[in-house]
Amino acid sequence: MKRMLLIGALAVLALSLDLGAQDARGVVDAASRAMGTATLQGVSYSATGSSYSVGQNYTAGGAWPRFTVSKYDAALNFGVPVMREEFQRVDDENPPKGGGAGPYVPESQQGGIRPIPFGPQTTRAMRDGRTENGALLIWLTPHGFLKGAAANNATVRAGQRGVQVVSFPAFGGKYTISGTLNAQNLVERVETKVSNPMYGDMALEALYSDYRDVNGVKFPMHIVQRQGGFPTFDLRVSNVQPNSDQAASLTAPPRPAGAPAAEGPARATAKELAPGFWALEGGIPMSFLVEFRDHVVVIEAPGNEERTEAMLAEVKRVTPNKPIRYVVNTHHHSDHSGGLRAVVAEGIPILTHQSNKAYYEKLFRNPSQVVPDKLSRAPKAAVIEGVGDKRVLTDGTRSVELLHLSGNLHADSLLVVYLPKERMLLQADAFAPRPPGAKPLPSSPYTTNLLEHVRKRKLDVAQLVHIHGGMDPFSALVETANRRGTN
Ligand SMILES: [Zn+2]
Ligand SMILES: [Zn+2]
Repeated sequence: MKRMLLIGALAVLALSLDLGAQDARGVVDAASRAMGTATLQGVSYSATGSSYSVGQNYTAGGAWPRFTVSKYDAALNFGVPVMREEFQRVDDENPPKGGGAGPYVPESQQGGIRPIPFGPQTTRAMRDGRTENGALLIWLTPHGFLKGAAANNATVRAGQRGVQVVSFPAFGGKYTISGTLNAQNLVERVETKVSNPMYGDMALEALYSDYRDVNGVKFPMHIVQRQGGFPTFDLRVSNVQPNSDQAASLTAPPRPAGAPAAEGPARATAKELAPGFWALEGGIPMSFLVEFRDHVVVIEAPGNEERTEAMLAEVKRVTPNKPIRYVVNTHHHSDHSGGLRAVVAEGIPILTHQSNKAYYEKLFRNPSQVVPDKLSRAPKAAVIEGVGDKRVLTDGTRSVELLHLSGNLHADSLLVVYLPKERMLLQADAFAPRPPGAKPLPSSPYTTNLLEHVRKRKLDVAQLVHIHGGMDPFSALVETANRRGTN
């Protein structure tokens, strides 16, 4: 009897899925007609608004920091498929709060620290539709979504408020792309989940509103993209050109589809900076190793699981038979914390500012199913110890001081690491020295705050060790922090 019921239920389920697929074809066709997608080979458009830097929030769990987009131009060719994006952003938050300056770029002399100098900063990107990332971003656009749904076994279900939700699987089911069609058959939202080393599975969403008709093509004049629940773009669109020459002339980027990044496997190499103190080189930001009598402490776990495992293997090679008591995390930005899930999976306790503790405990319970990592395959509770204003790690022979840079606008959780015996201060993102010959900058409030802490705490610093690479004499910090003027 039970079995009969089960077979009956399965038959009904199979029937409804089948109908779903047939319905989906009709629904996608109707939306494509309403939107003008069927005749749309490509489109170009401009916009202005805001962009936001993922993973660079001022407070852990808070919104991504905002930049003004003074100019945004996109062109899409659905046939290739490829999308070209170019935009200019201006760092006009006053004062700046959070990260997001990006690495230093020699051509523009921009990046490294906020406020970003010398006017708008230009970003150019080619989204190659043959790669996962490129395909997802093209499917996230309203017309790209309908073309993707038409080509990829879509199904449909009724949502709330009379909307229809069309979904299709991509890359062997790794991703599900879902789009919401409103009563006018317009795409008002597209979403999927992407993988992030620090955050695990992360919602990627695009919201479309204020549709206008441009030569028979419906196009949204307001575009909002969100990642992890917070905006990454908020754009007011203008100058939409369906089937533009610009879109038609786009060709596939030269890199072959699916080619792996050129870097090769992750590796780490220890370089001794002082007796019992090493930089673990193998990527930026870097990790560091401090040896105590019967254990070691690692500072920073950037990157991802692969990089962190290579780094931990190098620690075991350099200091065999000494357990890792802690991994110190300087702040919650994703470039500094992408390896923490791997640290949790290894069962190593994490030391971070106390403002991150509750957030991290919750964060590291997030699933990572899009790209399964060790922590999602064998979930483990994170062991997090919060640091207040100061925490001293010592075994009587040497000590390491973790100090909170309270009031630093780069991140409210920012810690520096002081080695009194070595007279070294490890810092991330409060000071970004510029290469010789670069135009000097007025001081950043992030840098003046660092110097204030060194003075207030009476630290005896000979050298600054930059977690983003390189070392400088203390005088470089004093000189930069005292520099006046405007861009
Ligand atoms: Zn940062
Ligand atoms: Zn950084």
